[in-house]
Amino acid sequence: MQPDDFVPGTVWLVGAGPGDPELMTMKAVRLIERADVVFYDALVGNGVLALIPSGTDKVSVGKRSGRHSKDQRTIDAMLVDAAAAGKRVVRLKGGDPSIFGRSTEELTALRAAGHQVQICPGITTACAAAASAGISLTLRGVARDVRFVTAHSKRGAALDINWASLAGGGSTIAFYMGRDAAGEIMRELMRAGMSGDVPVLIACDVSGFNERRLATRLDLLELATRSFAADAPTLILVGEAVDEGTPALTTSRAQARQAHG
Ligand code: SAH
Repeated sequence: MQPDDFVPGTVWLVGAGPGDPELMTMKAVRLIERADVVFYDALVGNGVLALIPSGTDKVSVGKRSGRHSKDQRTIDAMLVDAAAAGKRVVRLKGGDPSIFGRSTEELTALRAAGHQVQICPGITTACAAAASAGISLTLRGVARDVRFVTAHSKRGAALDINWASLAGGGSTIAFYMGRDAAGEIMRELMRAGMSGDVPVLIACDVSGFNERRLATRLDLLELATRSFAADAPTLILVGEAVDEGTPALTTSRAQARQAHG
């Protein structure tokens, strides 16, 4: 702990983790306890919000599906105003601020206005989902990289994703914001050559009270998501490494596929 790392008029972008307050860093908790005002997203869990002292201003700025850049600009302006008023400002974000967290917009706006801003990392949902499922996102000889992909698009527009680069195998793919695009993800990956029997893990409300997971396969992704996820925050993991509970089987299956081309 550094006693002078949160002076009035400065801002911390703080990762709240996936929901369970025990998955926050000690630094995040300390910053929240010292803040004058906390701006938080819709996906920040109630258990995390309960850590904010009762005398601290709490401001909800999140929508479940933040779409309009105007809304982001409003948030940027609110942060700048709070810092300009000499407050210690915490901007609390679900998961890790650097993963689909719009943190660059906020950093840029705050720095342009002359305010000091720092980042406290958090556990991103993909890591928390893998931990809950008892799997590893990388798997020696099977999954050599992990891809964090946003499957959010403007309403009605096709996803702007390089499917061929994902479908080649050897990766674990974590789709954030992919619940409503599950059908498109399934069809595009298969069109790009991924096999329909590649394991998929659908993880909802990761680390929350309603946490649930469904292990399925790529060609059932749309049906499974529709019937399983409802409107919960949902992470979709795709790849040979995500076969929940059966890493040995997964490995041999992947090796068999490789051997047979
Ligand atoms: N910065 C966050 C991601 C923000 S994008 C992180 O690092 O995790 C928002 C998306 O994250 C949601 O649409 C969902 O796909 C995923 N997500 C966030 N919290 C989740 C949770 N508790 N369970 C499942 N998915 C979650």
